[in-house]
Amino acid sequence: MPAGGIHALRKAIRPVRMINPAQAEQLIRQHVPALPVESLPLAQCAGSILREGIHAERDHPPFDRVAMDGIALDSASVRQGCRSFTIRGTQAAGAAPLQLESGAGCLEAMTGAVLPGGCDAVVPVEQITVADGTAILNEGLTVEAWQNVHRRASDAHQGTLLLKPGTRMNAPEVAIAAGAGFARVRVSVQPMVLVVSTGNELVEPGLPILPHQVRRSNAYGVAAGLRRQGFTRVADDHLLDDAGQMLARLRRHLATHDVLILSGGVSMGKFDLVPRTLSELGVREVFHKVEQRPGKPLWFGITDAGKVVFGLPGNPVATLVCLSRYVIPALNAAMGEPAVENRSIALKEPVSVSSRMTQFMPVRVETDADGRPWAVPRPTNGSGDFASLAGTGGFVELPPGPGTWPAGFIAPLYCW
Ligand code: AMP
Ligand code: MG
Repeated sequence: MPAGGIHALRKAIRPVRMINPAQAEQLIRQHVPALPVESLPLAQCAGSILREGIHAERDHPPFDRVAMDGIALDSASVRQGCRSFTIRGTQAAGAAPLQLESGAGCLEAMTGAVLPGGCDAVVPVEQITVADGTAILNEGLTVEAWQNVHRRASDAHQGTLLLKPGTRMNAPEVAIAAGAGFARVRVSVQPMVLVVSTGNELVEPGLPILPHQVRRSNAYGVAAGLRRQGFTRVADDHLLDDAGQMLARLRRHLATHDVLILSGGVSMGKFDLVPRTLSELGVREVFHKVEQRPGKPLWFGITDAGKVVFGLPGNPVATLVCLSRYVIPALNAAMGEPAVENRSIALKEPVSVSSRMTQFMPVRVETDADGRPWAVPRPTNGSGDFASLAGTGGFVELPPGPGTWPAGFIAPLYCW
């Protein structure tokens, strides 16, 4: 009997309550360290997560900017009755500002040019007639001060914070950084990720296969999911269910990668060697098993050096669900992306859940005539049936059953 008597014994044998998906997500977030920062040429940072603030280099726009091709003039002249204006010159984009000397004149002005001195309005070419060097306003046309002029600093003042750290660099953000004069930006370093499949039964696509063998499909699916989400440093390896090989190869992989994503070998079978091998290598188990279906055997651990290891269940539906539900959000958080509220969607049809665990239900996302998205449940024939995932957009997370969730029930959506 352990020290402490019967009470301690009861405590020792009481089964550990499994954590739920929200708790698993929380634990992963707490343990995955932030990735370091690097400076990248702007042309290479699409999809990266910004790790510095981008401030406006100058006012936006930096000068009173001509917004239409036409003539620039002084609107006071029009109010005083002048309808025809001698063209005194041309103000092109990129040219230093000209000066209009007299209200009886005007300057041709091109979109993007500086508004010439002495002018406060632009009349578009469509609203004038030009003959013999004179522009005549169309009949009845009125001209307001500052019309067709994009006023200096009307969008943003010099020094304004345009992009916050944590912003993902999509097309507008890259353009904004370029507009602020940044040739390079500080972004998160891409993690070195290794996808490791395990199992003696697995055979590479393209190689001959025996009736009792299985294609090594998970490694391809996981790598594809990561690349689709913008992770570029993704390598892969395959390990047999052999303790010696697993130990040697995982030791090397831990030394050379930031994140290992294993599939298979985390259940209760005699050849499920992953948890004990990882523990021998000093990977500390943060949790093993989550109250969810599919994907219950999910394993997660870290090393003292901050290396992160996900042991995904081998059944292909479970593997992909755990990748989208846990791994990709964790890597995005490590890159510095702030946590966002997950997208929700309504079920198109009722779903019955028999288990007391959270259920991940694959769905096809359909849009109705009013533009509203609906999740059409696509139940699989168990967690090995990954052929049923074809055409699905992802899965919804349904609360623990047993119960029936009606059509219209709103659930978080995770996309592949
Ligand atoms: P395990 O967790 O290793 O017991 O694997 C559970 C199931 O998933 C078994 O039927 C395996 O054959 C299958 N499996 C494991 N890894 C893969 C993989 N990389 N590709 C396809 N199926 C796999
Ligand atoms: Mg296996």
